[in-house]
Amino acid sequence: MTTPKETTRVALQPLLDETTSYATEFLKGLAQRRVAPSATAEELRKQLGGPLPDKPQEPRQVVAELAKRAEPGLMATPGSRFFGFVIGGSLPAALAADWLTSTWDQNAALYAAGPAASVIEEVCGAWLTELLRLPEGTSFGFVTGCQMAHFTALAAARHHVLKTAGWDVEAIGLTGAPPMRVVVGEERHTTIDCAVRFLGLGAASLRSVPVDGQGRMRPDALRSVLAGSHMPTIVCAQAGNINTGAIDPLRAICDIGHEYAAWVHVDGAFGMWAAASPTLQPLVDGIELADSWATDAHKWLNVPYDSGLVFCAHSEAHQAAMGTHASYLVHSEGKERDQMDWTPEFSRRARGLPVYAAVRSLGRSGIAELIDRCCSHARRFDRALAQVPQVEILNEVVLNQVLVRFLDPGGDHDARTRAVVKAVQEDGTCWLGGTTWQGKVAMRISVCNWSTTTDDVDLSVEAIVRAASR
Ligand SMILES: *Cc1c(COP(=O)(O)O)cnc(C)c1O
Repeated sequence: MTTPKETTRVALQPLLDETTSYATEFLKGLAQRRVAPSATAEELRKQLGGPLPDKPQEPRQVVAELAKRAEPGLMATPGSRFFGFVIGGSLPAALAADWLTSTWDQNAALYAAGPAASVIEEVCGAWLTELLRLPEGTSFGFVTGCQMAHFTALAAARHHVLKTAGWDVEAIGLTGAPPMRVVVGEERHTTIDCAVRFLGLGAASLRSVPVDGQGRMRPDALRSVLAGSHMPTIVCAQAGNINTGAIDPLRAICDIGHEYAAWVHVDGAFGMWAAASPTLQPLVDGIELADSWATDAHKWLNVPYDSGLVFCAHSEAHQAAMGTHASYLVHSEGKERDQMDWTPEFSRRARGLPVYAAVRSLGRSGIAELIDRCCSHARRFDRALAQVPQVEILNEVVLNQVLVRFLDPGGDHDARTRAVVKAVQEDGTCWLGGTTWQGKVAMRISVCNWSTTTDDVDLSVEAIVRAASR
């Protein structure tokens, strides 16, 4: 029998060295390999499954087998020709800091459990507030993704609008509470609906506002929905429609919402990063007027999963909704940051560290460049594909999203578009998905990876054209 100490001394160095080489081989291979996975679910189950292991296995062997057997089932999402969903890669500094996050294994719930993690999140939150042009003193939390950022922000909103109506939701709950409504755009992201559901408000509390042809909430329509009632109200605006990339007219929405004493929340999962670019910043004009914001670091900032961010202009509402108290917790009496007071999570990894590393490695100018570059790649896709016969671009390419439709001589454009998407995925040069935009099936291109070059765009355009001419 080896003692734990011996095991550490004997095995750790080669284990981690080998793991480093699995990681670097994977990353180096991204440029050459097919973007899509090569194995079927059945093959993966065969490789990775089997009965529950009875006995211990050598860690090096465990990791070696894992690396080998999982590989055919990996999607090359961190690579430069992955354009599916809205998925970023991992900046080198962020990836390395993520390794350290696991190595240090800090519990980022309390200052007392890991001061460095707390201070890094404090520093980074203030940097991001400035970078995204939010009001000074905005409170923030590091969550798993935009879904939980919505949950957190809307919990703060629920607290605030019900408190204004004389109701203490944290103490009494929702039973018997004044009815409230959550006003959303017709083209909102589905995570808004989930957050509303998690908060006990139910789909019946939603009021949907018509949008324009790009999916932007119409301010006149918002006014008509709000008019005539003064019930406690939350308005959810959007910066970056998941399909078109379009950004709601935030200034108008905030102004109208506030006229009706509503709390205005912004779903800015990827689109609010336009605020970090001097060129694109006019698109999010008025963003600082909102009451809360939800975004992701694992999309456009290119931080490894999982990493979301919530911001709140009313820190007292944020803390009232999320704050925790228990006798054994050593709270730092307001001087230091206890992260669990700002997120639904209790114990969690120090996910602020890779965000911090990403911001430090790029700086303000590097982040602006990253955002601008992705948008310029999207315009390159737009220009190249718009020239191809029988191809239609469905959206105004204002950000990093491009919607492409392939016209069928027989008139079944939906079927042809689906077939082209499938053929591109099978070809393997790049990967992108399909969607339905305002009733039309479309190919959806999303550019958010730091490593994508114009050559990657050109190679991908060729692959798309090749697939379309089959
Ligand atoms: C991706 C996305 C979300 C959900 O973000 P997760 O990080 O997956 O939770 C919400 N809204 C929009 C607009 C998005 O693009």
